[in-house]
Amino acid sequence: MAQLYDRVALIGLGLIAGSMSLAMRRAGLAGEVVGYARSVETRDTAREIGLCDRVCDSAAEAVKDADLVVLCVPVGVMAEVAAEIAPVLKPGCTVSDVGSVKAAVIAAVAPHIPAGVHFIPAHPLAGTEHSGPRSGFAALFDNRWCILVPGDAPRPDVERIAALWRAMGSNVDEMDAEHHDLVLAVTSHTPHLIAYTMVGVADDLRRVTDSEVIKYSAAGFRDFTRIAASDPTMWRDVFLNNKEATLDILGRFTEELFALQRAIRMGDGAHLHDYFTRTRAIRRGIIEAGQDTAAPDFGRGAGKPS
Ligand code: NAP
Repeated sequence: MAQLYDRVALIGLGLIAGSMSLAMRRAGLAGEVVGYARSVETRDTAREIGLCDRVCDSAAEAVKDADLVVLCVPVGVMAEVAAEIAPVLKPGCTVSDVGSVKAAVIAAVAPHIPAGVHFIPAHPLAGTEHSGPRSGFAALFDNRWCILVPGDAPRPDVERIAALWRAMGSNVDEMDAEHHDLVLAVTSHTPHLIAYTMVGVADDLRRVTDSEVIKYSAAGFRDFTRIAASDPTMWRDVFLNNKEATLDILGRFTEELFALQRAIRMGDGAHLHDYFTRTRAIRRGIIEAGQDTAAPDFGRGAGKPS
C-alpha cells in the first residue's frame, strides 16, 4: 500500500494510538509517525518499545509539520489538547480523533480548529479492556468498523483518511454525530454500564463469597468481569459525554427488564420464550456479519490503570 501521509502525529500513546502506529507501519502508510503522551513514564515506555518513529516531549513539537494529527486521548481532555496544539497546526492539515463519543467531542474540539485546517472526527469500533502504551497491536482494527463523522470537510481529505483506516484493516462508514452516539449507546456504552453494574452486584452480594464468584464464574459473568475491567477514566468520560443517548437506552432497558421480571413472577413462559427467540435471531445476524469474535489480544499485557 502506498504512503498516504508524510507525517502523522498521535497525541496520547495508549491502546488506540499504539495500535494505529503499528497498523500504519505494517502497511507503510506514513513517512513518519510521531507521538506524544502526557506522562514521562508513558513517553519513556513508548521510546523503549519503539512504538512510533519519534516520541516528543510536547504536543506542539509532535504536531509541527504533521499532515495528519489524531487525538487519541480520553474524551474529557480533547478540548484541552486541541487548544494546546491549535497555534502550531500546519495549514491545510487534517485533525482527527478516535473518541468513543462524537457530538460532545466535536463541540469541544471544533472551536479550536483554525481556518484552513479540517477536522474529521473518527471512531474505530475496536478495543480491548487493556490500556496504555504496551497494549497496542497492529491487528486491532482488522475487519472492524471505523465510523467517520466528516460534516462538511472537503471530500478529498475525507477520502484520504478513509483510505488510511481501510489500509489499517477497517471497514469505513460515515454518519452524523447524533446518530453515532445513539448507535454506540445501544451497542457499546449501555452494555458496558450493565457489565459494571452486574460485577458490582456480585461484589455486594455477601451471601456468595468472593471465592465462589470467582470459582464458578461461567462464561456470562466472566465476560462481564472482562468488560468491567476497562479503563475507568475512558468510561467515566464516555458516560459524562454521551448522557442523553445513554439515558434514553437505559430507560428502554429498564422497561424491558421490568417486563421480563413480571413474566418470571407470573410464570409467563411464552413471553420469556418469545423474547429469547427474538434475541437469538439478533445474535445470528451478528455472526452472519462476521462481527462475533472479540478483537484478539496478543498478550502484550495489561496497561496501567489510570
Ligand atoms: P489509553 O490506553 O488509556 O491511552 C490514553 C492516552 O492518552 C495515554 O497515553 C495518556 O497519557 C494520554 N493522555 C491522557 N491525557 C492526556 C493529555 N492531557 N495530554 C496528552 N496525552 C494525554 O486510552 P485508549 O483506550 O487508547 O483510548 C483513547 C481514546 O480512544 C479515548 O477517547 C477512547 O474513548 C477512544 N477509544 C477507545 C477504545 C477502547 O476500547 N479502548 C475503542 C475506541 C475508541 P499517559 O499515559 O501519560 O496518562
